[in-house]
Amino acid sequence: MNSPAAAVSPVAADGCGVGADADERPILRERGQREVFCGLTGIIWLHRKIQDAFFLVVGSRTCAHLIQSAAGVMIFAEPRFATAIIDERDLAGLADANDELDRVVERLLSRRPDIRMLFLVGSCPSEVIKLDLSRAAQRLSHKHAPAVRVLNYSGSGIETTFTQGEDACLASLVPCLPAMPEDGKASLLVVGALADVVEDQLRRLFDDLGVGPVDFFPPRMAKTLPAVGPTTRFLLAQPFLADTARALEERGARHLPAPFPLGAEGTTAWLEAAANAWGVEPERFRRVTAAGRERADRAVARYREVLAGRRVFFFPDSQLEIPIARFLARELAMTPLEVGTPYLHRQHLAAELALLPETAKLSEGQDVERQLDRCLAARPDITVCGLGLANPLEAEGLTTKWSIELLFTPVHGYEQAGDLAELFARPLQRRQALAV
Ligand code: SF4
Repeated sequence: MNSPAAAVSPVAADGCGVGADADERPILRERGQREVFCGLTGIIWLHRKIQDAFFLVVGSRTCAHLIQSAAGVMIFAEPRFATAIIDERDLAGLADANDELDRVVERLLSRRPDIRMLFLVGSCPSEVIKLDLSRAAQRLSHKHAPAVRVLNYSGSGIETTFTQGEDACLASLVPCLPAMPEDGKASLLVVGALADVVEDQLRRLFDDLGVGPVDFFPPRMAKTLPAVGPTTRFLLAQPFLADTARALEERGARHLPAPFPLGAEGTTAWLEAAANAWGVEPERFRRVTAAGRERADRAVARYREVLAGRRVFFFPDSQLEIPIARFLARELAMTPLEVGTPYLHRQHLAAELALLPETAKLSEGQDVERQLDRCLAARPDITVCGLGLANPLEAEGLTTKWSIELLFTPVHGYEQAGDLAELFARPLQRRQALAV
């Protein structure tokens, strides 16, 4: 699955520094070479979520290789993504490249009348950057409306980390959401792609709490886009949706600050934020959440023996690092050494930071060589990192966990808390078994 040439985004070093967050916790800020997958990776989980959407990457052969090798196992009768390859030849005439793109889209839509939403996904090769994909999307949308809506976003590896692909995709979708009437009833929007099974579980909990109506964004079908407006309150299900949140706020929606629904504690606090906004009685909240919380506690406890006291080091990759470190520290008694995150959104992460042990060292951005030195010196029991770093670290005798698995595996909510703990226990158990 690894495609290092495609996935690594080197950025010229321009120094680093130590700053302090609002809570005075020191943060090591680094702006050196970083090692992450690009935003195209998000297509792998987004194409499973929005069932009548199609993702057309406008990119190079490298992009096609990345997306094919990362998501090569098609589980659908018809694919939901493809790459339109723009090569050197196309540099000669942008008009030709636009005509070619129109022809590709025409062919695709005539073959696949089930597609209701088409995302043109930009990438970083210079040939693609010269194409104005937003104009192309407008032109094609005009042509294929009302049957198909054509949108565009960038999955480029130049300045993104891989989860920003989802953020860019959802942010591009926000202007298409219908307007909620200003005197409409308060409604809850859960923002961030979640597995259908997780959505169903959370919806049942909200129903039992009397919170709602509830919509999930992105929806399962492009034709059921949720309405948004000043009476919308939204909960973020993922910590990497800064642009989407901003776009929703511009439409009048209001964010409900909360930790993220990872683990028993995070899920309870996240549900509580909505329950408080809806004025749910504390007793009802306890009654509705007790069974799920207890199941989650029991499932997590099974892995405490393997994980308690183990030291964990996070390289910045998925932007899930801080909530996961909080879960591992508070529910499994692990010790986070360094918690690296590509970007630190202080507002969205405020509730998480308040729960993170003081001893955890925070870093934002990356200077990969320096961070590797710190990691090797610390010799953590488990290192959470991107695919490109996992093999070299394993060769140094360290146990690793691919952070991208946190996006491929349903990990949110009470019922998945045990699976989340198991993701970290398994590599340690495997290494132990190999050592015997
Ligand atoms: S968008 Fe850039 S980083 Fe991503 S696969 Fe294409 S060339 Fe590589």
